Amino acid sequence: MTKNIIILFGPPAAGKGTQANVLISKLGIPQISTGDMFREMAKAETPEQIAALTESQRTVKNIMASGGLVDDETVNSLIKDRVAQEDCKNGYLLDGFPRTRNQAEVLDKMLASTNDSIKFIINMNVDDEELIKRVENRRQEIINSGNQPREDDNPKVFKEKRLNVYREQTVPVLEYYNDTAPDGVLFTIDAMESIDNVTKKIEDIISG
Ligand code: AMP
Repeated sequence: MTKNIIILFGPPAAGKGTQANVLISKLGIPQISTGDMFREMAKAETPEQIAALTESQRTVKNIMASGGLVDDETVNSLIKDRVAQEDCKNGYLLDGFPRTRNQAEVLDKMLASTNDSIKFIINMNVDDEELIKRVENRRQEIINSGNQPREDDNPKVFKEKRLNVYREQTVPVLEYYNDTAPDGVLFTIDAMESIDNVTKKIEDIISG
């Protein structure tokens, strides 16, 4: 049976995680969010928890807070281990990976070695103004619920770093897939609409 391997691609705060959450229960495959995995790995809020982090955990935490990218080798090995787990045997939904051309190439090689391939790449288009609005809303909702917002959802980090990192390091992934993905794999959708409408567009693509 061919695996259901789907990539949700797009800028930060485009709604990849939100859509992944809806889709996984319908598709019966797990969501693999490298951002969630790194947040879990480097979870520490109090000074005591921060002091207890290992050096590599602290490095990840600092990179994330600054809006930069974790190094490819670390990310690629995390993915390799994750997709080898039992729950990924029928497929998985990638959210936030690949984020560099190297990651995309390593993923292709890894899949080729097991005769697997990417079934769909959904590129979610959202303009910068809307992304900034979405990240500000997300931050405010978390504060209103009495929790700590993500350090990298700070408006300055978002506008000055994360959007630039996306343009410079992640957009080349799209160019790579434009050049290499077989017909019927890469789809671009307007993801500026409501959550339900965007879900519908993705479902229409996936169900062919
Ligand atoms: P996300 O939750 O997808 O916005 O990811 C949050 C942060 O985790 C990113 O800004 C990066 O610092 C790190 N991260 C997540 N996925 C990757 C990846 N594929 N490559 C490098 N860094 C990543």
